[in-house]
Amino acid sequence: MGVATAVVHLYYRDALMHTTPTPYASRIQRFRLPRVCVAVVGEDPNKIIDKAESLVRDNSFMEFRLDYMANPLAGLPKLKHFLDMHPEATVIATCRRAVNGGRFKGSAASQLEVLTKAAVVGFQLVDIELQSAEILKAGELAALKDKVGVILSFHDFKSSKKLEDSFGEMKRYPADFYKVVSTATTLHDNVQMMKFVQAHSAQYEMVGLCMGEQGIISRVLGVRAGTIFTFGAALKGEETAPGQVMASELRDTYRIEMVDAATQVYGVAGDPVAHSMSPIMMNTAFRRETVNAVYLALHAKTLKDLLTCVHDIPIRGLSITMPYKQQIVDALANSDELTKQIGACNTVVRAQDGKLYGFNTDVAGIVVPLEQRMSLQGAKILIVGAGGVARAAAFGLKNKGAEVFITNRTAEKGQALARQSKTKYMKRVDVAKASFDVIINATPLGMGTNKQTPLEDKELNTKYLFDLVYTPAETNLVKMAKAKNIQIIPGLEMFVQQGARQFEIWAGKPAPVADMGFVVSKALERIAAQNGDGGSSGSNGATRSSTKPATEPVAPKAAPPVGKKKAKAPAAKPAKKAAKKTSKR
Ligand code: NAP
Repeated sequence: MGVATAVVHLYYRDALMHTTPTPYASRIQRFRLPRVCVAVVGEDPNKIIDKAESLVRDNSFMEFRLDYMANPLAGLPKLKHFLDMHPEATVIATCRRAVNGGRFKGSAASQLEVLTKAAVVGFQLVDIELQSAEILKAGELAALKDKVGVILSFHDFKSSKKLEDSFGEMKRYPADFYKVVSTATTLHDNVQMMKFVQAHSAQYEMVGLCMGEQGIISRVLGVRAGTIFTFGAALKGEETAPGQVMASELRDTYRIEMVDAATQVYGVAGDPVAHSMSPIMMNTAFRRETVNAVYLALHAKTLKDLLTCVHDIPIRGLSITMPYKQQIVDALANSDELTKQIGACNTVVRAQDGKLYGFNTDVAGIVVPLEQRMSLQGAKILIVGAGGVARAAAFGLKNKGAEVFITNRTAEKGQALARQSKTKYMKRVDVAKASFDVIINATPLGMGTNKQTPLEDKELNTKYLFDLVYTPAETNLVKMAKAKNIQIIPGLEMFVQQGARQFEIWAGKPAPVADMGFVVSKALERIAAQNGDGGSSGSNGATRSSTKPATEPVAPKAAPPVGKKKAKAPAAKPAKKAAKKTSKR
């Protein structure tokens, strides 16, 4: 929309609105407000000012939570100084009452006094709850609105039901912005919220979003439905609402200022997914390759909830993680051979016709790092473990012509996998007598605070150790192997390679593997530094929970082959081609 069209659009929208916008709000509407408003908290005005000073260069739109201050009224003169010094900043004054989820203990009348004074000292917008508006005397809210832009807000801390009912109440009061914040208990609640905002955004200035971990969809995609702006935390630990993400994350990871109707939506779906590193890795890849796409962490408590959202949002592609890798197979119209063989899918493409096609890139996650170092034809490989990842490794490596052995704590499970994948089972007592080109640790031993090793020193007779655990980067198994001059393949390479292959399927072009590896290892280092310890990692190792720094370079490097000819990494397969090929099967 050009500037002239935007002005005309605003003119007509104002004409349609039931309420006349104040001169203040009109002034604000003419600007294009940034999409992210950063919530600033502090117990006294100096703390708020210090934070605001550090934020204002990158965040010209802020919300000062006056209710976090011991005495909001007394703090206003100091805040005035900041507002005077920063005419470039647009600042909301919020003094949320404790009964409505804030920290202000005063009455609605005292809240009105604070907000009226906030208008006088120069705040451009004030936020007041519907419940306070209901208590105030007739005309008091209108009088406030004559002085300052008013955001009338409503928060539901339990659910996303009754959005229309709440808004019906809100519309009875004059306001420049109507802010409806609910709580997502399913992914589909986001769809409800976005449909609600869309239904009213032509007539009203709407801000609508869902709180809670599952509300991330509405926080990022709400702007497409007509939400004027969304809220972000200044720092981790300073969230002013459940599920609020950092403002820097909204801008840098999710590129919220660029999200538009054409932005394709992808995500990692599982339960849990809160600490998944996939969003940071995949959004980096999309940004680096200038793909108009955003990738979200989708906490799906049921597969049904996920599948409904895939069609309603719609979502173009999914990374599937535990516990849905097997269950998703039944929902697929077709899948690649690996998915069929292994019975598990970690990558979904939603085609134009709405059908879902499945791929398994976990295999690539194991095969590619190995092929970058050796030819797999005839390579002697021991897999320790017989779970999901061992399964992908067994089938994938057997397909590449490797001589694969499996050993497992529960012999029957290992034997069953060996039978199915046409590989060999090796009893644990025989491991020390044998030697291998590669040993793969496909157990969780060594992960996080676990110090155990799946094999003993005398059993590590191998050229390479591929420890799929990568948090911490240096497990005791890796330490033992290094002491024996065994070359290490870091487990993070699997995570990066399976993600790279997903990117290639979705985007149809080669993935920026080095950037993906770099950003994940840096994020892990940052988190480990924040935690100040080695900490633990999550279920698939690809998590942001407390971890030791990934001290080894993770961007895959070509290493000398093991006396055999070097194999090429598989080329990218364009998404369309891949999907077409799949649908033929
Ligand atoms: P899984 O399906 O739960 O399988 C775990 C396997 O480890 C089973 O074979 C199990 O043996 C064995 N095991 C568990 N505890 C053991 C113990 N105390 N002693 C000996 N064996 C034990 O898990 P998965 O999905 O295959 O994942 C395995 C590990 O791979 C994860 O923990 C994670 O660290 C890593 N991973 C890495 C990536 C990556 O991108 N790098 C991705 C996914 C997973 P039983 O059959 O006897 O129970």
